[in-house]
Amino acid sequence: MRTKRVLIVGGGSSGWTAAAYLNAALNIGDHKVADISLVESPDVPRIGVGEATIPNINQVLSVIGIDEMDFMKAVDGTFKQSIRFVNWLDDKPGFYHHPFCRYGSGPGDDAGRRWLMSDRSAPFMETISPQPAICEMGLSPKMLGKEDSGLSLVYAFHMDALKFADYLRDFSTARGITHYLDHVVGAEMHENGHIAAVETASGKRLEADLFIDCTGFAAHLIGKKLGVGFADCSQWLLCDRAVTMNVPYDHHYPGYVRPYTMATALSAGWVWDIPLQTRRALGYVYSSAHLGDDAAEQELRAFEGDHAEALPSRMVQFKVGRREQQWAANCIAIGLSAGFIEPLESTGLYLSQVASDVLAEHFPHADDMAPLAFRFNRIMANRFHEILDFINMHYCLTRRTDTEFWREVGRPERINDRLRAKLDYWRIKPPSAYDFEDQLFPGQPDIQMSSGGPSGDNRYPVDTGRLWNHHSYENILYGMDFLRDECRAWYGENRPRPATLKQVLNAVDSAPGKLPPHDLWLQRMVGMADYSKL
Ligand SMILES: Cc1cc2nc3c(=O)[nH]c(=O)nc-3n(C[C@H](O)[C@H](O)[C@H](O)COP(=O)(O)OP(=O)(O)OC[C@H]3O[C@@H](n4cnc5c(N)ncnc54)[C@H](O)[C@@H]3O)c2cc1C
Repeated sequence: MRTKRVLIVGGGSSGWTAAAYLNAALNIGDHKVADISLVESPDVPRIGVGEATIPNINQVLSVIGIDEMDFMKAVDGTFKQSIRFVNWLDDKPGFYHHPFCRYGSGPGDDAGRRWLMSDRSAPFMETISPQPAICEMGLSPKMLGKEDSGLSLVYAFHMDALKFADYLRDFSTARGITHYLDHVVGAEMHENGHIAAVETASGKRLEADLFIDCTGFAAHLIGKKLGVGFADCSQWLLCDRAVTMNVPYDHHYPGYVRPYTMATALSAGWVWDIPLQTRRALGYVYSSAHLGDDAAEQELRAFEGDHAEALPSRMVQFKVGRREQQWAANCIAIGLSAGFIEPLESTGLYLSQVASDVLAEHFPHADDMAPLAFRFNRIMANRFHEILDFINMHYCLTRRTDTEFWREVGRPERINDRLRAKLDYWRIKPPSAYDFEDQLFPGQPDIQMSSGGPSGDNRYPVDTGRLWNHHSYENILYGMDFLRDECRAWYGENRPRPATLKQVLNAVDSAPGKLPPHDLWLQRMVGMADYSKL
């Protein structure tokens, strides 16, 4: 087979992930399947956000061939074991965790049903996972040294977005990827509607067989050149802006490094709080229809406290939605050019990573790309809508009524129809793996749903549970006190306390003896400074 020339346009996290991943997955042994180049504009900065990941990052690093410790040192990395959702439930202060591991699953696992029949005096996840308690104790998921704690704690990372792209750039160019620093100004087309070459500001003409558009929200090739439309999904997710701020530790060190991300609900959205080795990254994601930019910035500063008064902030605008076709002609959009869902569950980088993986598997070794493009589009549309439903659910289960934003997100028209069908079904039985086997739930229409599918394909997107499965759904549903009043009516007032798995009790007991504080692990193992002494 002839080696295919692949040109990636854009050198943000998605461009360099695609370069490193495709190179590792396709160019095995002596035969070069793909001759990969990347052109990145010196004039357009990367978006510079996208600093919390989910556990699939471990598989990505392993395919690319990156050592975890090396990675953590290079990207200012810390561990992430959970997201702590604060003040999402109702008008009273409160929180719940969405940790990455859960014990006792497998055949006969009826933890959800048992918890629904209990008096709910302990949070659901704390009965089946030691990770919320381990997070609250501020512990690392790993022991000092190489020994395994035996606690099977699943983790992801927080990392500096710019350092991540730089790290992958250096890694990739050292392995034969050609790198151009040049601004793409136009594209030359073949008669069949495929892109032949891109033209750059310095006068270069870069030819390829396959073009990967990683130009971020600009969508330079897929949107501007090929005219592929954008399916707007802002009806279900109202937030469209973020005001961001870094709090360097040498300016303010809280005394610890949380081993989890915080997502705290404010008046018109929520704030991420992502701890790195040298700073905390904050971002208030909000709805501009409900809050002005200045008011959002003030609210973020007030939330963080007096020390945030003089820190610089930055505004990022975004649109929730997706390209109607992520792969059109010989161009594949990966990253923000392909679409975006707000970052509540840190899924942006995941979507780029999964797109690189699906592309490697559907790589057009021969000339006929159309069937591969069809399947790629179908798979990526499913993934996008799976995430959309899941994030939509975080909002629509709220009982907050304190501001117009929170009243609005709870309105019936803000729940997409596929999610509504799932929630209705889960009133009858708790979520289980079989619910993701096929997608026809009672009440679900068998024509295209208003939440959309790929253009020209009237079969609605399928929730395969590949990313967010029944465990993830149970976590958020019960964290948000789903069926609270119904369970009272079904099971009466005198219900038993929730039973915590013995394994969980043992793990929580033994954790402080095995696991060091997160900041201590970072200092000893990857060279973080000891800010408490500085
Ligand atoms: C507010 C916000 C918060 C987020 N938080 C998270 C999170 O916590 N976790 C997560 O997983 N994801 C998150 N994301 C998503 C994440 O930031 C992106 O998925 C990720 O950064 C990938 O961006 P990108 O590479 O597609 O685009 P960018 O970083 O914008 O890169 C675009 C690249 O294209 C280049 N370019 C543009 N035009 C041209 C041109 N004409 N010629 C040549 N090059 C060009 C630029 O120079 C740049 O190199 C967040 C996104 C937003 C908006």
